[in-house]
Amino acid sequence: MDQNQLKEHLRFAAELGVAGISREPEWRTRTDSTIRVTEAPMPQDPTAAGEDATSRSVVATAIASGEVAAPADSLAALRDVIGPQCSRCKLHRLGRTQVVFGVGNPYAKLMFAGEAPGADEDIQGIPFVGRAGQLLTRIIEAIELKREDVYIANVIKCRPPQNRNPEPDEVDTCEPFLFQQIDIIQPTVIVALGKFAAQTLLRTADPISRLRGRVFEYRGAALVPTFHPAYLLRNPSSKREVWEDMKLVKKLMAERSTTAESRGERI
Ligand code: URA
Repeated sequence: MDQNQLKEHLRFAAELGVAGISREPEWRTRTDSTIRVTEAPMPQDPTAAGEDATSRSVVATAIASGEVAAPADSLAALRDVIGPQCSRCKLHRLGRTQVVFGVGNPYAKLMFAGEAPGADEDIQGIPFVGRAGQLLTRIIEAIELKREDVYIANVIKCRPPQNRNPEPDEVDTCEPFLFQQIDIIQPTVIVALGKFAAQTLLRTADPISRLRGRVFEYRGAALVPTFHPAYLLRNPSSKREVWEDMKLVKKLMAERSTTAESRGERI
């Protein structure tokens, strides 16, 4: 890290509410250094998860044919399956400009899952590019990664009108595509951004304040729920907790890649 990057890192850490830093090893670890992992309830039956035959096809076809395609090819195939004019749910006739598929490194170890595109994302076709997205980029950089290193996607791929919450039928229709993105990328850690993404992925109604700070085992990854960047823009004092969550993310990435490496798995 050069001096400018260090300055930026410290400035952001301060903005996130970190009062000071120390070289002491304890400072690097959380007070609670034992990471407890909760198994996320995950429906085994794909139909129960809302995965219809069409949406399952990319991963299922590759498995059935015995071919394991490169993640970039599988993502491109999935994007084609969704199609640029997807009309599977009512959002296609409620003013969306385009499908916002996802962006980033197909081999990412870290994946972020948000709720749904907003106005800026709808125009640009890229998730998290508005004000909340800019804060997300700084959060990513605060853990010494670049946006291009990670993968970013949403539960819902089309903008709901007036940024209203996605409705259950829209979630049921669209969430299988996020599940497939996760299965293709096989990240080590997934960060669920905000109540909506966390509750959808974990199949729970627990509030985000109860979910954050915990680690869930989810589709082969460690899932860490945290506050949504849009919430942080309205509640800057919660940046302190997000900083804690991101330190946990870094720790999990380091721990899990060491374990995978020793087993000779993809890292
Ligand atoms: N909020 C989200 O949840 N996703 C985006 O892509 C942008 C804002």
